[in-house]
Amino acid sequence: MSYDDSNIFAKILRGEIPCNKIYEDEFILSFHDINPKKKIHALVIPKGKYVDLDDFSLNAAPEEMVGLIKGLNIVAKKLGISTEEGKGYRVLANISDHGGQEVPHLHFHLFGGEKVGKMVE
Ligand code: AMP
Repeated sequence: MSYDDSNIFAKILRGEIPCNKIYEDEFILSFHDINPKKKIHALVIPKGKYVDLDDFSLNAAPEEMVGLIKGLNIVAKKLGISTEEGKGYRVLANISDHGGQEVPHLHFHLFGGEKVGKMVE
């Protein structure tokens, strides 16, 4: 699947629509999910144009990979849910059709602030 520049997260990255921003750096943008499923529900997205985790794994530069993984911890710390600051959290990436991915720009969901519950339903 090729990257679709009209997806909603691409529009957020371009500043065309607003987001409730948590953190931003050279590699990632993080913001609160518009339809939170847990007390804390954040999204972390790479700034690069990657459809999903497979695309990112195959095509991203090593520094983008490091930036994204380290970014997850930075955001978790900011939210007070990292193992240093809080009680932990869940990271989830939906990938394509069977994964239930709705927005075709790679994103990690961070759930926390309470017990997250069953892993899958
Ligand atoms: P997924 O099903 O993994 O593709 O998740 C997409 C997520 O993006 C959902 O949890 C939506 O609630 C969230 N979402 C969609 N539009 C926005 C938006 N404008 N701002 C923040 N979150 C959004």
